Amino acid sequence: MNLYNLIQDILKDYSIDNREDIVWEDIDFFKPWEFSGEMSPILIYRLDRARRISGVPFVITDSFREGPGDESAHNKGKAVDIRCHFSGPRFKILEGLIKAGFNRIGIYDRHIHADVDETRPPEVAWLGKSQ
Ligand SMILES: [Zn+2]
Repeated sequence: MNLYNLIQDILKDYSIDNREDIVWEDIDFFKPWEFSGEMSPILIYRLDRARRISGVPFVITDSFREGPGDESAHNKGKAVDIRCHFSGPRFKILEGLIKAGFNRIGIYDRHIHADVDETRPPEVAWLGKSQ
């Protein structure tokens, strides 16, 4: 990473948590149609930064999800699942997510979940089996 990119990142970081809407032109690695509903701006900005830091592709397998009785962060547009089957990319994705500011991460056998649901405990990482 060169100095210019680093400064750009710091400036972006500065504004990440204050964004009230998503300006897709600012998002380098994702397009709106990769998400199945209205997503939280904080989530998208952090995800973009995580992807930049990690240096590996992020394939979104689940984002917005609607369902009766579904109280998950997905239901609020505040979570994404990223496809992940192998240990090398898993490390890089986790590194990117944590450095980008995600503090709620689920590590599953075939995906990684990251969310920004502020109604749930921060600084947690849990294990699970992909459905
Ligand atoms: Zn999930």
